[in-house]
Amino acid sequence: MNTNTFAPAYNPDEGIAVEPLQAGGSVAVVGAGAFGGWTALYLLRSGFTVTLIDAWGPGNSRSSSGDETRVIRSTYGNNKFYFDLNVRALQLWKEHEQQWKTRLFQNKGVLWFCYSEHTPLVDDSIPYAQACGMPYEKLSVAELEKRYPIVNTTDLHHAYFDAHGGCLRAREACQAVVKSFISEGGTYIQALAKPGKKEGGRLKEVQLTNGDSVIADRFIFACGSWLGFLFPEVLGNLITCTKQEVYYFGVPASKAVSFEKFPVWVDVDGTNFYYGIPGNNYRGFKIGVDERGESFNPSTGDRTYNTTVLQKAKRFITHRFPDLKDAPLVENRVCPYENSPDGNFLFDQHPEVANLYFLGGGSGHGFKHGPALGERISRIISGSGKIPPFFLLARQ
Ligand SMILES: Cc1cc2nc3c(=O)[nH]c(=O)nc-3n(C[C@H](O)[C@H](O)[C@H](O)COP(=O)(O)OP(=O)(O)OC[C@H]3O[C@@H](n4cnc5c(N)ncnc54)[C@H](O)[C@@H]3O)c2cc1C
Repeated sequence: MNTNTFAPAYNPDEGIAVEPLQAGGSVAVVGAGAFGGWTALYLLRSGFTVTLIDAWGPGNSRSSSGDETRVIRSTYGNNKFYFDLNVRALQLWKEHEQQWKTRLFQNKGVLWFCYSEHTPLVDDSIPYAQACGMPYEKLSVAELEKRYPIVNTTDLHHAYFDAHGGCLRAREACQAVVKSFISEGGTYIQALAKPGKKEGGRLKEVQLTNGDSVIADRFIFACGSWLGFLFPEVLGNLITCTKQEVYYFGVPASKAVSFEKFPVWVDVDGTNFYYGIPGNNYRGFKIGVDERGESFNPSTGDRTYNTTVLQKAKRFITHRFPDLKDAPLVENRVCPYENSPDGNFLFDQHPEVANLYFLGGGSGHGFKHGPALGERISRIISGSGKIPPFFLLARQ
């Protein structure tokens, strides 16, 4: 989870339109993570013939979408664009889990631990939350202690509780999206893809490791943290990959229910932006560290945890939740962040190949937006939507 603030000023009329694809046209989407999977599904529903390709499968362990859970929260500081995108995404997540009869969203709420009177990331979202009927509840330290006795509040000024947020079952959701994509008529292929023949400034096909090729009118590379490696000349400096760690701790049996029921939490003013997701399908009490890790290769990088980062996480979790003093590490995951320079997502055409698009730059906060982003991208491709200027290669 990325807890930085970034606030694009956005006038929807200012977006960039692309050459529309006529109904019945074909699209190949490379990458079946949160961005590619949902985009493929919405393109299919818009009347296109869609092929979705992934080297290791939807929600695989190398991908950014491959962990157990991801936070869903509307809190984005003074950033109406991502606030609104999240509100739409939340609606779509709820609709899809009903449609698919699969529990993907856990409405645990999100608890923001604030150290001082003013916390811009939270405070500046409050007017947006109120305007759309999703207000946050302010908790004094005394109220916080009463409601959640497992929290050490000594360094806190107050907390906010957002009852509408929670977490998503991440890797399971990616698989549910692809399952639905196939059942609705899409073609899914497991293979590594690379750009193939080009003619007249257009890509004709992608070549697959199985020797086949896929021909299409449009190609969308939604390859997460691989984007900078696949297109080093265009994206090498724009999408960078860092090693990020999350740890799952075993809670004491006597307090297992209190920890299980605890909301998603974010230590918003702390120096390393710790956050956590309790529950996780009984995998343990998860803590994430939002500090940027070392540069990482998502295909070959070693997924062993960094002991220094683990020690920091242990120190913090013991401080905030004293009952976890002797909690054992029961699992850990290394997931790559696919960082854009400013935290905004990326969607744009290749500068020299008109029908090749890049989609990515989730930057540690993209997962929750998957359905709303996919819906938007399908509108852009069909000519009924525009690319937000801050999604472009030349950020505006
Ligand atoms: C530790 C961590 C915590 C996070 N926390 C949150 C959070 O709390 N909330 C939130 O909303 N977001 C969070 N995020 C961010 C979010 O997970 C990502 O932004 C999102 O999952 C990105 O999805 P993606 O589809 O762009 O990339 P990915 O999930 O990485 O998918 C890319 C896919 O492309 C495939 N691929 C790559 N190259 C090729 C190729 N050449 N041919 C075929 N297939 C290829 C890969 O196999 C992969 O499946 C977090 C990320 C991390 C790492």
